Amino acid sequence: MKRWLNQLIRCVYPPVCAICRRPCQPANGWPAICRLCLAKMPLLGISEERRPWPEMADADRHPDDLIFACMAYEEPIRSALIRLKFFDETDIAELVAELLYRLIRRTRAKGHAVMAVPLHPARLRERGYNQSSLIAAALARKLELPDRSELLVRIRATPQQSLLTDRRFRQENVRGAFAFHNESPSGAKPLIRPGSTVWLVDDIMTTGATLTESARPLWRAGLHVYGLAAALVSPVTTVSSKGHPT
Ligand SMILES: [Zn+2]
Repeated sequence: MKRWLNQLIRCVYPPVCAICRRPCQPANGWPAICRLCLAKMPLLGISEERRPWPEMADADRHPDDLIFACMAYEEPIRSALIRLKFFDETDIAELVAELLYRLIRRTRAKGHAVMAVPLHPARLRERGYNQSSLIAAALARKLELPDRSELLVRIRATPQQSLLTDRRFRQENVRGAFAFHNESPSGAKPLIRPGSTVWLVDDIMTTGATLTESARPLWRAGLHVYGLAAALVSPVTTVSSKGHPT
């Protein structure tokens, strides 16, 4: 009876592709995305999806920590991420989480919790939601890991990174902007144990400055951090002899 009802609902209200907004029959296991849009996703190749943290992270990061990036910041995901961020099209978060989930499964990297790069409370009030938190929540469900986004907070409001073009300015802009509150209500033991690995989710990565600064308090608390970026603004990154992206 329930299956029949579901089929009827699908006939009357077919799923709508999160990218092109046309009714679609999603491929097996995928949230609403048509096959055409799925084929057009600018997924990164295996050699590009796994990358070192930028040099600015060196003072704090663990040597094995990496950044995983899923797509190039190109169409059709580019406009979809803008719609997710500014135009309340929050179902796109589910699609992005599925793409990240498949990337994680492919790389076989393991984590213990998921967190999102946070917005400052003032910006969160203005926008109503944090797009990276929506992606992190959906990803945590898929990975069956706790979403601990509430423990990482933005303590300083900063001008939007997208308004700054220079790498150094972007780094200065977010320096010291994040704090990690790992205490349980009793204060007896940390909520995330030192030595654990966190998946730290950001929607769009350009220089990696925001991701690095939000990871810094986690590293200082003894955690490993795998950065996880849905889209990379400049995926063609040359790696210097020191192994750093330039
Ligand atoms: Zn489509």
